[in-house]
Amino acid sequence: MHGHRVVIADSAQFPRDKTCGDGISPLAVRMLIRLNVLSQVESEGAFRIENVLIQSPMGKMNRSRFDESLGANEYALAMPRIDLDSILLKYALSSGAEAMLHTRIEEVQTDGDLITSLTAKHLDSNVRVKIQPRHVIFAVGANIGFLRRCGFTVNTQNVSLATRSYYSTSIPLPKDYALYFDEELIPGYGWVFPVANQRANIGIGVVRGRHRATSNIEMLDAFINRRVNQEVLCGVTREDDVKGYPIRSDYGTQRIAGANWMLVGEAAGLVNPLTGEGIDLALYSGILASECLHAGIGLSQPYSRLYEAELSRRFRLLFVGWRICRNLLLRRHIMDRIVHTMSVDSELRSLIVKMGLGLESPISLAHPKWLYRVIRSR
Ligand SMILES: Cc1cc2nc3c(=O)[nH]c(=O)nc-3n(C[C@H](O)[C@H](O)[C@H](O)COP(=O)(O)OP(=O)(O)OC[C@H]3O[C@@H](n4cnc5c(N)ncnc54)[C@H](O)[C@@H]3O)c2cc1C
Repeated sequence: MHGHRVVIADSAQFPRDKTCGDGISPLAVRMLIRLNVLSQVESEGAFRIENVLIQSPMGKMNRSRFDESLGANEYALAMPRIDLDSILLKYALSSGAEAMLHTRIEEVQTDGDLITSLTAKHLDSNVRVKIQPRHVIFAVGANIGFLRRCGFTVNTQNVSLATRSYYSTSIPLPKDYALYFDEELIPGYGWVFPVANQRANIGIGVVRGRHRATSNIEMLDAFINRRVNQEVLCGVTREDDVKGYPIRSDYGTQRIAGANWMLVGEAAGLVNPLTGEGIDLALYSGILASECLHAGIGLSQPYSRLYEAELSRRFRLLFVGWRICRNLLLRRHIMDRIVHTMSVDSELRSLIVKMGLGLESPISLAHPKWLYRVIRSR
């Protein structure tokens, strides 16, 4: 904690479930390494995933090994959030943080841009208390109601809805980070992320308002039926309730830091609009926010500009590119062509995997040679 007193307030009682696909991307794995917590995550059962599989709306498929596309020792993991988040909380507590769990932050009192106090409610006793922190890092995820009540803007054009559950299967699952851009879901997608040999988190993410005729649960069932018919899944049994939650990918459309506060993770809209991944960007921005805060306090300088600038340098163009890719490329015939080209062109395959995972700028894709190769590929 570098000598700082850190208090974590969370409305949930831990261990707590978080509706998620549980996919820990290679960038998230890198962040766990930075936090020095990867070995614990792995020893407590995270499932190692070696390949990323993409299927286009018309059924073209490409499977790439992470280490071939990204470099040696790169892989993904999957672990139910109830386990992952408990490990991360324990890690923070063992490093000296204090926790106020089952405590909801209800209101924020300000003086201009400065946060002067927070009203918190202990959910066990219903008692309200005032907290007067010197600095506040908001990590409330997609709690859009809370963010709006506090005066933050949320651009709902970039909000999608994702729905998932846990399923057991009668045969072992391939070690794939599998994304299916089915015609019925595009520009959304469905995923199958194995959390154990014969257990997977399976879900769908769709753009809000596009599929009004069908419920998300029906769409998820239909997605699974398509995988069974395709013989990707076999003997599937649902083990848990189906749960849904919004996903915010609107980074870049709101202020994310002020006099003594910062937004991190999904509260800042930091979710990849192509894949719906946000664990990696939440870890990245959380680490960055703490580094900027520490540096700012040490130098008695405002840290918010530093945080905004660093985040912008890393993510602003990436998000612009991701949104352009989503709007232009996530279309039936175009995706089909691209996925086919990925299966025959290892350079393009590596570039698209890196770009999709946030490890390469989508600007690199704008070179005419890629267009030429996609058009000419057989
Ligand atoms: C169905 C679904 C599937 C997804 N799949 C993936 C995936 O496979 N891989 C991936 O990388 N990302 C995935 N995401 C996105 C990912 O879950 C989020 O982007 C990520 O969890 C964001 O982390 P965060 O720390 O910002 O917020 P969260 O993980 O949402 O944590 C927010 C915390 O704030 C607490 N909180 C909220 N409001 C208050 C309040 N007022 N007072 C106190 N505490 C409060 C909550 O209890 C919670 O503990 C998925 C999302 C959904 C909905």
